[in-house]
Amino acid sequence: METAAPLGEIIQEIKNVGGSAFKYCYRCGKCDVVCPWNRVRAFSIRRIVQQASFGLPEIELEDMWRCTTCGTCPSECPRGVQQIQVGLALRRIASQYGVFPGSAHTVGAIRGALSVEGNPMGEDRRKRGAWAEALSVNPFSEGMEILYFVGCYYSYDPRMKRVAAATARILQKAGVDFGILGEAESCCGESIRKTGNEDVFRKLARDNIKAFIDRGVKKILVSSPHCYHTLKNEYPDFMVHFEVVHVSQFLLQLVDQGRLRLTRPLPRRVTYHDPCYLGRHNGIYDEPRKLLGAVPGLELVEMPDNRKASLCCGGGGGRIWMDTPKKERFADIRIDQARAVGADVLVTACPYCISNFEEGKLSLPDGDPFEVKDLTEVIHESLEGIEQTL
Ligand code: SF4
Ligand code: SF4
Repeated sequence: METAAPLGEIIQEIKNVGGSAFKYCYRCGKCDVVCPWNRVRAFSIRRIVQQASFGLPEIELEDMWRCTTCGTCPSECPRGVQQIQVGLALRRIASQYGVFPGSAHTVGAIRGALSVEGNPMGEDRRKRGAWAEALSVNPFSEGMEILYFVGCYYSYDPRMKRVAAATARILQKAGVDFGILGEAESCCGESIRKTGNEDVFRKLARDNIKAFIDRGVKKILVSSPHCYHTLKNEYPDFMVHFEVVHVSQFLLQLVDQGRLRLTRPLPRRVTYHDPCYLGRHNGIYDEPRKLLGAVPGLELVEMPDNRKASLCCGGGGGRIWMDTPKKERFADIRIDQARAVGADVLVTACPYCISNFEEGKLSLPDGDPFEVKDLTEVIHESLEGIEQTL
């Protein structure tokens, strides 16, 4: 395990990041206008950037943990200020000294679970591949077409395991020669990094990279946009390169190549929610929509706040592990938007979005037919000659 950076060094980093950011800021306030927090409560990332530039904090500790790293404010800032980087520098110092107030009190335990078991739930590492046992999924071996890097939530969470099963069945139906790492897979480390725990992130990344290299992995399929972002954009900092594809991209390729035929009609009115780490952070907007468009009978309608302006579900930046009061949940706003455009299915492609929307759906009246589905589950449903129960 690496030793953490000394306090003085981190304070200097905050000043550097905050100061250079603030130097460019001309206080137009656009970042605060577009931030989803300001739909549910007062919050000013502009003020945090300003306060950070003076060294440290009068910053309210709870505010330090609010940013979901959704990427909206940096993408809208006319001066190119990197608000997320300022927030992360502050979290690094908080994590260094174990300052996890209120909503962030769970971070310490999650850091421990990730260090011991390689997943944030503290589940047994040896059971990471258990979801696949009944599906005849093989361990990855050199020469296979692709490694399916499953991710923590799809490996252990009962709701998300259905998505992993759908993915495996689709790949089998298309004749893709794929395998998984099972207990040799660890969390990608994206979210713990966003809480400022750089040392845990580096350990997880190195463990995964070693597992890839040992097995001769060249191409990696991921379900989570958070895994996608990290494996594709951040693992190259370790001087390695693997081809990384998100499941929406890979399944569309299979359809376009004629390896996957979507023939079972699904007469549903569907809307698609762009996950922050798939859309805004990585520019993948069209593939999920094209896939849904290839399903016979399916009608795709758009919500407000779509594509680059997508409304964060509230789960990024480690917030998936933190409590958010019911009246401050962005996911509830999103469900209202989906229902307002007459959709009976809200489709997305991220485990955090699915978890937050499923939680929000619990407030709907009993018997309401509105559904939350992963893109992969919809594609699975549109295949013929396949066991439909997941
Ligand atoms: S959008 Fe950019 S320039 Fe405008 S207040 Fe925010 S940080 Fe400053
Ligand atoms: S990245 Fe998103 S959540 Fe964070 S301050 Fe900017 S708009 Fe708000």
